[in-house]
Amino acid sequence: MYQQVSEAATEAGFQSDRVGRVAGDDLWIWTRRASTPDATVVFLSSGIHGDERSGPEALIRLLEMANWDDAYDWVVMPLLNPSGWRLNRRENADGVDLNRDFLRRSAAETNALIDWWRHQSKPCSIHLSFHEDWEADGFYLYEIATGPGPSLAPSILMSVAGDFPLQSEGPVDDHALCAPGWITHAPDPDEPEGWPEAIWLTRTWPVRSYTFEAPGRLPLAQRIDSLISAGSAALNFLSKPPSGLNEKF
Ligand SMILES: [Zn+2]
Repeated sequence: MYQQVSEAATEAGFQSDRVGRVAGDDLWIWTRRASTPDATVVFLSSGIHGDERSGPEALIRLLEMANWDDAYDWVVMPLLNPSGWRLNRRENADGVDLNRDFLRRSAAETNALIDWWRHQSKPCSIHLSFHEDWEADGFYLYEIATGPGPSLAPSILMSVAGDFPLQSEGPVDDHALCAPGWITHAPDPDEPEGWPEAIWLTRTWPVRSYTFEAPGRLPLAQRIDSLISAGSAALNFLSKPPSGLNEKF
């Protein structure tokens, strides 16, 4: 996994940063700096849940094929949960669901990521997170917006809907859909103590956060492709916002 990421990221002009070592595994973040110092920071994150195989695979393909705009600072964390990935399970080897650990910070992986961000000179402004939902028939996303700028959701969903079903029936984990595939979420955790990464980010800084959920009932190759479609659409939107949208991120 890391070898593939390393090759694709290096080829795309990213630099590696070792952010920690947990139970024999190095944790890596890849960064690609913009041509200007005040650029917006975009964070792509996957592999928090080790049994959701499509996220890291989609990120590798995006590293290989995407057009990484020099106008942004890009931060890529392809695999936060290497022990869970090896065991093919949601939690890490100690049984911690890392995506509920951003308030408690009981896991070394969570602490490594948070500490890395604390040492950056600029905050995260846009967050794209790659997951899958084993129960879902269609693709959907969570949008949590505490930051400025237009919503990326319509462009992302239009792109995915060209080739994949969107989740049309709610509620999904008690969340109503505001349109097919689209859940808007307040920056409040569903469980008071169980903060996901997206909640921590959106409560720490003004962030526009998009958590993609590939439909678990589709085969792996299609789950990967649906996430690539969503990620590509987000990157295209950032590079060339649809005309008429003048709000800045
Ligand atoms: Zn997940």
